[in-house]
Amino acid sequence: MRLSRRPFLATLAAAATTPAIVTPALAADEVDVAILGGGLAGLAAGRALVADRKKVLVLEARDRIGGRAVTDTSLGFPVDTGAAWLAPGPLAKELGGKLLPGPDVGAIVLSGKPLTAEQMADYAKADERMKALVKDLHSRMPDADPAAFIRPLTPNEQLSFSRLLNKPPFAVTQALEGGIGAAVARLGAKVPVKLGTRVLRINSTGSSSGGQFIEVVTTTGTLQARAVIVALPVSVLGGGHMGFAPPLSQKKRDALAATPMASCTRIAVAFQPGMPKAPANAWVTGITRAGVPFDAFVRPQNRDAVILVLESQAARQVEESGANASGAFALTTLAEIYGSDIRAAFRGSVASRWGRDPYSLGAWCVPPKAAVATLAAPHGERVFFAGEAMAENPGTLDAAYASGLRAAAEAKTALR
Ligand SMILES: Cc1cc2nc3c(=O)[nH]c(=O)nc-3n(C[C@H](O)[C@H](O)[C@H](O)COP(=O)(O)OP(=O)(O)OC[C@H]3O[C@@H](n4cnc5c(N)ncnc54)[C@H](O)[C@@H]3O)c2cc1C
Repeated sequence: MRLSRRPFLATLAAAATTPAIVTPALAADEVDVAILGGGLAGLAAGRALVADRKKVLVLEARDRIGGRAVTDTSLGFPVDTGAAWLAPGPLAKELGGKLLPGPDVGAIVLSGKPLTAEQMADYAKADERMKALVKDLHSRMPDADPAAFIRPLTPNEQLSFSRLLNKPPFAVTQALEGGIGAAVARLGAKVPVKLGTRVLRINSTGSSSGGQFIEVVTTTGTLQARAVIVALPVSVLGGGHMGFAPPLSQKKRDALAATPMASCTRIAVAFQPGMPKAPANAWVTGITRAGVPFDAFVRPQNRDAVILVLESQAARQVEESGANASGAFALTTLAEIYGSDIRAAFRGSVASRWGRDPYSLGAWCVPPKAAVATLAAPHGERVFFAGEAMAENPGTLDAAYASGLRAAAEAKTALR
């Protein structure tokens, strides 16, 4: 690979920590498998191939690995601004660390006021009404967007409808001590990675006619690879930010176009000790006085903090309003619930802006069921695909991880 000297040395240094991955037959700018994207899918694939003694290089556009699994520590405690919930299972075991309690069922808050038991009964009725309307619409017009046909009228209906439409593909389960992003970075620590390297295009035309290498063109040089695993977000692939020669099949391009990204912003706000005055690990779901639906994880692990979660249009609006808008929005929302004293206790905030991030262009995606296999299908004989959209239960860490292992197995078979 024609690399500048420093990053190349960094690559060698990373490789030096990994036992016996160098295949002598390959030159410095040649690898067995180039992996495009250092999120969980790419790192899982890389780790499996390193264990199989393949010469691997992950090419990652950002200056860090982990993609949409990232832990921020600038508030003095770990905050996952991307993936935050993990259920016990194979991935949790692989990531290691202690699973911590997720949120307890908390309150529903409308315009700053928690619902009383009587109001909760009204909310439950509104919820039933909205569920019935959505079910009825889907039975008559399966592809219709409920937002285009159903108008919720009351705040109860608005909140219920927003929760129905924005149900994430993962369950709100448990947190991981130290953060999921930090654990994903540890999982990938021994995989050779070249950071700050955006992949522009790959040329596999030669490989299909018996040629040995696929050419991977990046912002920092060109690499020759015997096989390639594309582990980039669907938004990057579908948005034309990556070129393929030969071009991707029409079927794959249609599947990419049919897979939009959801929007989600996580805003962590830290306070002076004792604030907010609320029980630990409470989950508050609500709608602000301005009509914005939100969820809040209050006093996570009993910290003096709240993590506010916005989805859909609310997330897009806050992200578009600039870097400081998220903290201000969170503080206004929390002042409605806990009183304006909370403003004086404000210590700082961090927020994600996944929709404005050129390397994710959104939060997660759930393709139509029939598109998953098409997205995961190889392109020619030696270009494979991994990522959250390309396995069962798409849009989750579990899917990203499983797809990475599957793509690594495919690459291994192809290189035999
Ligand atoms: C706010 C939020 C909350 C979430 N919460 C949960 C949760 O609680 N539980 C759960 O299971 N899932 C959750 N998810 C989803 C989960 O984070 C993703 O499904 C998963 O991390 C995707 O992994 P991936 O490897 O497929 O993609 P990514 O993590 O996006 O990795 C792709 C990598 O490719 C890189 N890249 C992009 N373009 C290029 C290029 N041209 N060249 C080189 N590199 C490039 C990116 O920088 C990135 O590192 C959440 C996501 C978000 C955004």
